[in-house]
Amino acid sequence: MTLRFASIGSGSKGNCLVAQAGSTRVLLDCGLSPRETERRLARLDISPADISGILVTHEHDDHAGQAYPFAAQHRIPVWLTYGTQTALAESGKLPGNVEARTIQGRDAFAIGDLQVRPYTVPHDAREPVQFVFSDGAFRLGVLTDIGVSTAHVETTLSGCDALVLECNHDHDMLWGGDYPKWLKERISGPFGHLSNAASGKLLAALDRSRMQHVLAAHLSQQNNRPELARAALAGAMGCAPDWIGLATQEEGFSWRELR
Ligand SMILES: [Zn+2]
Ligand SMILES: [Zn+2]
Repeated sequence: MTLRFASIGSGSKGNCLVAQAGSTRVLLDCGLSPRETERRLARLDISPADISGILVTHEHDDHAGQAYPFAAQHRIPVWLTYGTQTALAESGKLPGNVEARTIQGRDAFAIGDLQVRPYTVPHDAREPVQFVFSDGAFRLGVLTDIGVSTAHVETTLSGCDALVLECNHDHDMLWGGDYPKWLKERISGPFGHLSNAASGKLLAALDRSRMQHVLAAHLSQQNNRPELARAALAGAMGCAPDWIGLATQEEGFSWRELR
C-alpha cells in the first residue's frame, strides 16, 4: 500500500490537507469555501465523491469554518473532538444534516485503509488535536497551530517518515511588525503558534532517521518568509534549504508519496 498526501492550502486564510492510503482519502481541516475546495481538489484529480471523511483539528475558522458546509453538500462524515464539536455548535452556524463522529484526543482509529492517530496540543481552542496518519508501514505527522512543543508531541512525531510542520512566524518580523501588542503576545504565547526557531528546535529533538519529506506549513503572510522557514528546518535536518517543501496559502503542495 502507498501513503500519499498533498495540500490545497495552508495558512490563516484556510487550511486543507489530503491524506490517502489505498483507496481511502480524507481531508484534514476544511477552511476554504466549498466551491474553492472542490476547485482545488480537482487539481489533485480528486472529486468530493472520492472523500471518505473530514477530520477537524480545532474550531478556528481557517480549519473548521467550511467543514460542515462541505460535508453537508457532499454527504461526508466529519470526525472531531467533543470540545471542537461543542465550540462549533455554539457558533450557531452549523447545518444540522451532518454525520459527526466524536473522537478522543488519545485514541487511534481507522477510516478504511487509513490509520488515524490524534494527539493533543496546547493551542487557544476548546479541545485541539493534531494527527498522525499511517498505512500500516509509513507514518505522516501533521502539526500546525501549537503554541509550544511538549514531550507528548515529540514522542508522537519521533520516527515519522514525513512531517508537515507549522512555521508560523519569524520572531523578529512579528515583534518588529504592526500587529497590536496583545496579538503579538497571543501568537507567540504558549497557546499560539510556533516560530521558525521553535519549529527547528522541535524538529531537531525528533528521531529523524526515517524522514523522507519535511514541509513547512501555516506560514504567516505578514510575519514570515518562505526562505526563513526553510532555513530553520534545513538547519535541523542538516539538508539544503530547497529540500524542505513549502505548503503555501494559494497552492498548498502537490502529491508527496511514501512507499
Ligand atoms: Zn490555523
Ligand atoms: Zn488555530
